[in-house]
Amino acid sequence: MSDDQLPPCPECASDLTYESGGFLACPMCAHEWTPGAQDTDAADAEPVTRDAVGNLLVDGDTVTIVKSLKVKGSGGSSLKIGTKVSGIRMIPDSGDGHDIEAKVAGFGEILLKSSVVKKA
Ligand SMILES: [Zn+2]
Repeated sequence: MSDDQLPPCPECASDLTYESGGFLACPMCAHEWTPGAQDTDAADAEPVTRDAVGNLLVDGDTVTIVKSLKVKGSGGSSLKIGTKVSGIRMIPDSGDGHDIEAKVAGFGEILLKSSVVKKA
């Protein structure tokens, strides 16, 4: 198991991590933690919505559209890049990636994907 790539230290990002009695330890900052605690597990425990560049989004935020979007039921109208959308609300992922609900002037209530917006 000496070939295993150990994860970097979550505290100081040092890659000098070593195993110590079932824990992982960092010689740089003396941090010790349990192996297997993945970032994705943490995300599951506390779901967060992030925009296209990784900013945390919360209810009531204002975002701008970063990708031109066709809006369902609007007769083929598109949301243009740079359109400002205020007062967004986080919703559970609908299954196809839509995780934001918002009211947009001229469109009414629409669903957005967090991957196509950027916090304003
Ligand atoms: Zn460290």
